[in-house]
Amino acid sequence: MAQRPRTGPRVPFVHSLQTKFMLSYGAIILALVIFLNTYPILISQNMVFQSKRDALWRQADIITSALAGREALTAEGVAATLSMLGVTGVDRLMVTRPDGLVLYDTSEVDNAQGKYALLWEVVTALGGDDVFQSEYRDGAFRSRSAAPIRYRGMTQGAVYLYEYDQEQAQLLLDLQTNLLRISVVVCVAALLFSVVLSKAITRRVAVLLQGIRSVREGEYSYRVTLSGSDELSRLADEFNELTGRLQTTEEVRRRFVSDASHELKTPLASIRLLTDSILQNGAMDQETVRDFVSDIGSEAERLTRITEKLLTLTRMDTAPPRELTPVDLRQVILRVEHMLTPLAQQAHITFQLDLSGGCRVSSTEDDLYQIAFNLMENAVKYNLPGGKVMVSLFPRRGRTAAEGDLVILRVEDTGVGIPEDDLSKIFDRFYRVDKARSREAGGTGLGLSIVRDAVLQNGGQIQVRRRAPEGTCFEVTFPRWKEDKP
Ligand code: ADP
Repeated sequence: MAQRPRTGPRVPFVHSLQTKFMLSYGAIILALVIFLNTYPILISQNMVFQSKRDALWRQADIITSALAGREALTAEGVAATLSMLGVTGVDRLMVTRPDGLVLYDTSEVDNAQGKYALLWEVVTALGGDDVFQSEYRDGAFRSRSAAPIRYRGMTQGAVYLYEYDQEQAQLLLDLQTNLLRISVVVCVAALLFSVVLSKAITRRVAVLLQGIRSVREGEYSYRVTLSGSDELSRLADEFNELTGRLQTTEEVRRRFVSDASHELKTPLASIRLLTDSILQNGAMDQETVRDFVSDIGSEAERLTRITEKLLTLTRMDTAPPRELTPVDLRQVILRVEHMLTPLAQQAHITFQLDLSGGCRVSSTEDDLYQIAFNLMENAVKYNLPGGKVMVSLFPRRGRTAAEGDLVILRVEDTGVGIPEDDLSKIFDRFYRVDKARSREAGGTGLGLSIVRDAVLQNGGQIQVRRRAPEGTCFEVTFPRWKEDKP
């Protein structure tokens, strides 16, 4: 099957599914990257701060305990105690008196020994509180801690510790750089993946769109092929199913229109031929003219019959749901028999009716009349002189509970019969087994189509079979009207 490329109005890139997919993925990835690059760093920084505080406070504790035993602190006494303790791991250690005078300072750059220390940490410690403060700046952790030296409830002085740590800061920096690298790789990979994925999805949608456009333009044989078993491939299957049905309907419609025009053309051509003959042959005798005009009349009648039946069929196809009432099929059959008796007598055919009472069907008088009339008329039309038409009507219990009670209408004849091969086709519109005979009998090839449509619309079924030893048997099954039905 040729698949012509179709184009339609393009979806602007900004509004396309692909852009929407990519933007959503992008936003998610961005949020993840921001989270990945901030949260672990903040957590690590916090952990470093805590470990620094613990370490400095432990040191301050040891020093204040060592110095706390003296009545009054002197520079020499503090220096002697501290050299005995051998304090390591801090970059500056300062000890002050209660008035803030520095007694001991390890700083070489701005040694404050003999001066007053005005650092707020020292001031706070002299006020009796332990202090710790740490900050991460310029690639280093700068931590300060101060604690009061107490003796018998009195503040004897303060210890100030300062630590400058580049090593841990470097570790943190490395972690940050690594996270950034990972983020870049993840970002690029995720973006590439999102582009590929969104392209794949939009390509599949485009295939469906192309299918819809092709069918819209009347190419009902177009089928969409989408692999996989996701929602889009389901959609494609449903689309193909729908298109298949459209195709069938369209084929039936086309065949019907061509058959109908052909059927209407034939009598029209005959009429044309007959009128031309009369007009062109001025010397035609009265008798022949009468014959020709009578033929024209018969053709016109045929046209009327065909158009009436076509109208019936179209009405059945398009009619809104009718109000269904319980109809006694027996009365309908009796009416049909009354109508057909003159035709039957003319052809020397006799009716044998065996009709049970109480066979009511939920339908309309019109539908049931159409069904019974067409079947019984055919049984007369396709019969042989001296033949019989047997019509029986009786109720029957369905084979399953769902089937419920049924009403069976059987129309049998002793006529010419229908060859086995034609049995399945006789319900088709305009199908006739013996065209000449049907034509002679005033047939249109539409009667059985009307019957089948009417039966199906009333929830029934129709079957046809050859009858032994001769003739045909039509059997229609309807659901029986139940008295307790609302
Ligand atoms: P028509 O108007 O030609 O009778 P139908 O649709 O009623 O059209 O029937 C289709 C064809 O089926 C008929 O042309 C005829 O050949 C065949 N047919 C229908 N009923 C019978 C029957 N009872 N016995 C034999 N042939 C029948």
